[in-house]
Amino acid sequence: MRICVWNENRHEQKNQKVREIYPEGIHGTIYKFLIEEGHEVVTGTLDEENHGLSDDLLNKTDVLIWWGHLAHDEVEDKWVDKIQQRVLEGMGILVLHSAHFSKIFKRLMGTSCDLKWREADDRERLWVIDPTHPITSGLGSYIELEKEEMYGEHFDIPTPDELLFVSWFEGGEVFRSGATYKRGRGKVFYFRPGHETYPTYHNKEIQTVIKNAVQWLKVTDTHQPTYGNHEPIETILKKD
Ligand code: ZN
Repeated sequence: MRICVWNENRHEQKNQKVREIYPEGIHGTIYKFLIEEGHEVVTGTLDEENHGLSDDLLNKTDVLIWWGHLAHDEVEDKWVDKIQQRVLEGMGILVLHSAHFSKIFKRLMGTSCDLKWREADDRERLWVIDPTHPITSGLGSYIELEKEEMYGEHFDIPTPDELLFVSWFEGGEVFRSGATYKRGRGKVFYFRPGHETYPTYHNKEIQTVIKNAVQWLKVTDTHQPTYGNHEPIETILKKD
């Protein structure tokens, strides 16, 4: 399994508090616990040449993980086109937290992907809605995060194929925090937690979800359908 962890990596450069929580960047933390699982993992960040992406890298990637917030607009459209194309061909994509507003997620959803938000140290409880799903394997009834940013409904996404988590926030809101989709031959999973000023990606249960998600997102059936004009399989009887 080849995974690319992509991170905008701007908060880490601007904010000392974020650097203290993620000294090697959010991508560095995610990279580490996925490498420990035995996966082949590379990282890419916005300020690298071509945003740290290449055609070769995307072609070899089974699952792309995407975190962004401040600079969605700086991601060049040509890379959004290429990532979308790879998803349609069967690359999995895990969209994290504020990447709900990334160009690629909005492209894949076709809706505004807007939501309510608040930074006020709300306690978050992510209730497991589908305990039979591979992505929720190994979890209890819920994951509790002592402090997180609040995201609240309405979340302007298409009705998910599968809803895996619903979050409750201390301030009273709820949110569809874990949603799966299929686009073309590829799978999409949106997972809400991960505001940069909280140590969310160090949480073992959050790591379990991400580890499970990359396994689920990898498409194992490599059959590519054919399209267009098609010769009949059986002889069609003349009807005159
Ligand atoms: Zn945030």
